[in-house]
Amino acid sequence: MKELDRIHVEFQAKGENESFARIVIAAFVMRLNPTMEELDDLKTAVSEAVTNAIVHGYQEKDGIILMEATIEGNVIQVQVVDFGAGIEDVEKARQPLYTTAAAKEHSGMGFTVMEVFTDEMWVESEKGEGTSICMRKKIASGN
Ligand code: ATP
Ligand code: MG
Repeated sequence: MKELDRIHVEFQAKGENESFARIVIAAFVMRLNPTMEELDDLKTAVSEAVTNAIVHGYQEKDGIILMEATIEGNVIQVQVVDFGAGIEDVEKARQPLYTTAAAKEHSGMGFTVMEVFTDEMWVESEKGEGTSICMRKKIASGN
């Protein structure tokens, strides 16, 4: 049986905590000896999810973000959860270039980045309840 390792952090939805989340995930995945590219890709994907929670989920207002990560074998899974606005049509939101914040200079590429930089990505969301993003990435050089 593969050994399972797990972390769970909870932080305020503030811009400063985007880099906190990146660093936490980077520190956690180090045990799998990722390449620089794998590390950068994972950090970027996590950043996009956390930024979305802050900007769209809580619309820059106070809120709590939960981040849970597990490592099983050489696969890291990261879940980012907010209890904010939620997404009406997830399929539409996942389309490249779809954004509801064009006026704030968002380009609608966050979900695409998360998809490209990880192996699997799921989105669960309920309007008015919040959003959960789950990403999974195999670290080829791991173990
Ligand atoms: P970019 O990421 O390029 O700055 P963006 O954030 O608009 O632009 P995506 O990250 O792809 O693009 O997200 C697409 C859309 O999905 C957002 O414009 C927003 O409407 C919705 N969305 C994404 N994440 C959330 C969330 N956590 N809560 C509510 N809505 C979200
Ligand atoms: Mg985004």
